Amino acid sequence: MKTDVVIVGTGAAGLFAALHMPSHKKVLMITKKTAEESDSYLAQGGICMLRNEDDYDGYFNDTMKAGHYKNDKKSVDIMIRSSQEIISELIEYGVDFEHHHGHLAYTKEGAHGRPRILFHEDQTGKEITSKLLRRVKERDNIIILENTTMIDFIVNENKACEGIVVENSDGSIGIIQALYTVLACGGVGGIYRNSTNFRHICADAIAIAMNHGIELRDMGCVQIHPTTLYSEKPGRRFLISESVRGEGAILLNKEGKRFVNELLPRDVVANAIWAEMEKDKTPYEWLSFEKIPEKKIRTHFPNIYRKCLEEGYDCLKEPVPIVPAQHYFMGGIKVGYSSKTSMERLYAVGETSCNGVHGANRLASNSLLESMVFAQKAACEIAVNIDGMELSPDAGFLVDYSKYNDLTKLKKDNKEKVLKMIETLKAEMQSEFEKESNEMTSDEVEE
Ligand SMILES: Cc1cc2nc3c(=O)[nH]c(=O)nc-3n(C[C@H](O)[C@H](O)[C@H](O)COP(=O)(O)OP(=O)(O)OC[C@H]3O[C@@H](n4cnc5c(N)ncnc54)[C@H](O)[C@@H]3O)c2cc1C
Repeated sequence: MKTDVVIVGTGAAGLFAALHMPSHKKVLMITKKTAEESDSYLAQGGICMLRNEDDYDGYFNDTMKAGHYKNDKKSVDIMIRSSQEIISELIEYGVDFEHHHGHLAYTKEGAHGRPRILFHEDQTGKEITSKLLRRVKERDNIIILENTTMIDFIVNENKACEGIVVENSDGSIGIIQALYTVLACGGVGGIYRNSTNFRHICADAIAIAMNHGIELRDMGCVQIHPTTLYSEKPGRRFLISESVRGEGAILLNKEGKRFVNELLPRDVVANAIWAEMEKDKTPYEWLSFEKIPEKKIRTHFPNIYRKCLEEGYDCLKEPVPIVPAQHYFMGGIKVGYSSKTSMERLYAVGETSCNGVHGANRLASNSLLESMVFAQKAACEIAVNIDGMELSPDAGFLVDYSKYNDLTKLKKDNKEKVLKMIETLKAEMQSEFEKESNEMTSDEVEE
């Protein structure tokens, strides 16, 4: 199969990139499962926006502080400065953000100095991604191929990317030759036992990049979300959005006492919960919604309320058990400000990529925004360079099919390799941050 651009992944990053590709170029999108099965669909809390110039310094500093000041400042600036344009475009696409007295309504999450997060109930990701998908389906130049898995890159004699090798839905191996390849494959949650991510989103692009010696960045920076609903069932962990704590929910130990300021950065709160679990000798702690008015729970958090009920907890009447779980990956394939990787004709956008915007720890609700800001940058750079380029006659000879004889083993090895690298580098970073985290916890618990 041949196309001008192949985009791997149909989450917010992939869809936004596709919508910004030149309309006279053929774009083929592939996804491992159905187009709707992306982590972008699962986003609950919302998406950040610079409200006005007065909030620039506050937003910038909150992002840097959450990231332990390891962030790339220029990436942070680009993200914040682009936010109003991205939100306007989403509204044009029909995204329905919550309003209050005719104006956009803002909520707050942990580590934000003020409310600056737009939302749609507790299903902001579904609202945004479904509207993007609808627009993509209206475009004549874009085709989506579901149940198709990228298993490798095709690399030519000049060490440039010529497209990808795929496992088709019937299990056969195929190739998609392209002038440009955009990786929008999401995070790494599927390589962890406990994660809020879809199981099939499991670092494929990062593993393949490792196999080809493509540069990676911040690989020890994995984010644990402090509050997922405790369950003994296997599968994805259900997230209880940070905006619940932003609206007043509190954390309690087994004695019913608060033990941390709930609005500290995610890594600090997660560490405090683990420490309390160890003291209490329990596999969870508790989240109480008692300070949130019932009407707010029913209107702002209907999905969370429903899910807790399904699991046997009525959060209007009682605290719910929570446990930290893997949630987001700040590291990934190293890219520049236009999302280009270290390989020619290969771009990476969204959670798969790392331009340093999140530093060592992502500020809540910055990821949907970041995904779209830098996906647009990738599409714009590709648009400038693609005219006049031609595919080489045949890329088939570049592919050594024998590498894919045992795909089960290849996939397993890939997951293990990424997990090992993350955990090794994470352990090295941990000790550096531990002191800082402990200081923050003890400083601010008393609030
Ligand atoms: C429960 C939850 C709640 C969240 N809440 C928020 C929030 O409130 N605000 C916020 O900003 N962020 C939130 N996030 C994070 C945010 O949703 C993601 O970081 C972001 O949507 C990532 O978008 P993406 O397009 O990079 O990847 P994804 O949306 O994860 O999409 C990845 C795509 O790649 C495809 N894919 C992967 N590997 C392959 C392969 N080998 N071959 C083919 N296709 C492949 C997948 O099928 C999928 O289509 C949340 C995340 C989760 C899990």
